[in-house]
Amino acid sequence: MVKVKEIFASIQGEGPYVGYKQLFIRFCGCNLNCGYCDTEFDANGAAEYSLDEILKIIDNNLDCHSVSLTGGEPLLNVEFLKDFLPQCKLPVYLETNGTLYKNLEDVIDDVTYVSADIKLPSCTGLDELWEEHDKFFAIANQKKLFAKVVFDSKITDSEITKMTQLCKKYDIELILQPKMEGVNSAVDSIFMSKILDKCLSIYPKTRLIPQVHKFINVQ
Ligand code: SF4
Repeated sequence: MVKVKEIFASIQGEGPYVGYKQLFIRFCGCNLNCGYCDTEFDANGAAEYSLDEILKIIDNNLDCHSVSLTGGEPLLNVEFLKDFLPQCKLPVYLETNGTLYKNLEDVIDDVTYVSADIKLPSCTGLDELWEEHDKFFAIANQKKLFAKVVFDSKITDSEITKMTQLCKKYDIELILQPKMEGVNSAVDSIFMSKILDKCLSIYPKTRLIPQVHKFINVQ
């Protein structure tokens, strides 16, 4: 059995796969506590599912591009994922904070896409996680990996250098995602362009993609 906050089919609203229909499985719990987090992933109101029940839901949603494992941090449920992923009939799209590299090692064979965050202390209010991200990317890079960075006006030049160097090391796309406050961006378009240009000057595989689902009002 696994505790799941919600399961729903919707449209991917972030990153390079924006617009694809996915089946989202939102797992409970997270190992981080980002200052900007607006996701409900606590166990209150969560439901317990058996492996068979989840597999049946997959069978009923085979028109989806992939199944998004999201949270919270889905890799906290690594024991369940080890059973589930080899039997999952949809390609697996892992949305992760990019820190639990040991857990990733156990399931990476059955994952197709990895959307891994780079957490900036200026935006999260947390300590630096560069070492964890580096170890995580080293494992995830055997699959379709990209990095996603939520930023706001407090982003520093040092962070820009470190995150671009990290993506360069693994030759992966760097997706800049402005922090949102409700349906509005926390930074204006001039600042966004400035940050994009700074990143592009170091690393050309950088794109800026806002959270599209917030504009079209889907889950
Ligand atoms: S990693 Fe994601 S789910 Fe966890 S606290 Fe940070 S924003 Fe929220």
